[in-house]
Amino acid sequence: MPVSSGVHHITAICGHPGRALDFYGRCLGLRLVKKTVNFDDTTAWHFYFGDEIGSPGSVLTFFARPDLPRGEPGAGEVVSIAFAIPEGSAPFWIDLFNDEGVPFALADGGRAIAFHDPDGLALELVETRAAANLPGYESQTIPGEHALRGIANTTLLVADAAATARALTEGLGWEPASHARFGEYMRIRFTAPDAAEIGGALDLLTRADLGKGKQGVGSVHHIAFRARNDAEQAEFAFAVRALGLTPTDVRDRKYFRSIYFREPSGVLFEIATDGPGFLVDEKLAKLGTGVMLPAHYEARREEILAGLAKVG
Ligand code: ZN
Repeated sequence: MPVSSGVHHITAICGHPGRALDFYGRCLGLRLVKKTVNFDDTTAWHFYFGDEIGSPGSVLTFFARPDLPRGEPGAGEVVSIAFAIPEGSAPFWIDLFNDEGVPFALADGGRAIAFHDPDGLALELVETRAAANLPGYESQTIPGEHALRGIANTTLLVADAAATARALTEGLGWEPASHARFGEYMRIRFTAPDAAEIGGALDLLTRADLGKGKQGVGSVHHIAFRARNDAEQAEFAFAVRALGLTPTDVRDRKYFRSIYFREPSGVLFEIATDGPGFLVDEKLAKLGTGVMLPAHYEARREEILAGLAKVG
């Protein structure tokens, strides 16, 4: 069976679009690699942030929905995203968060910094050994040596950990790596065999009597896992169907092709192809500068842009 080498991207919901652009672009120094609309709801902006080219595993994306209420974290949701930073970079980020007035808490002997984005999404910066081997995007505000290197880990809160575990192991080819108490929760860590340098780890947190989450501003919408190509994606679809789950048909997302299914605890999973990537409609130097639309929406460009929330 095929094995997904890691997380491809995570998509969350932000409120005010300008505030998200400022926080992730200026404050955290991620590169805005694509500015488009939600292909399934053209009234919402869709921003893609990542490393210089938006490599799979580095990408965090947002649907801007200032009209929605705040989400409430709970079971059946991705509840935290950790980005890798190089060893020795934590003090830089602690100083920066102090200057920016971003509240944070330290964990893991000062090597992990937990904080929230302006909409309440839980994030972490974690020093990892692998981070230094990955290119750091030199933004206007953050030096490349301290830049975020991609998604180190993701935490899912689930009511039925055994069922979600089957989706990860039998659907995606991942393996359980550890199993331990974590406060009042049980934490099961999964890793991708032969994982990519980023995105190859994930934690399930579970305990009895978990309340269901409510999706809204500050919630994660879905998590996408990597497929090398269309053929491998089709193999994943087959494996997922064998578990009694129902993947969608392939959707063309312009920068990758995707299938979606809800895993048994309710988290929306996507399997996205590595290619073609974000350079299909903008040159490297210009990534994220235009509002890019798929061909079938170009005829409605003015109407679509007029219906989007103001960024400024
Ligand atoms: Zn997605």
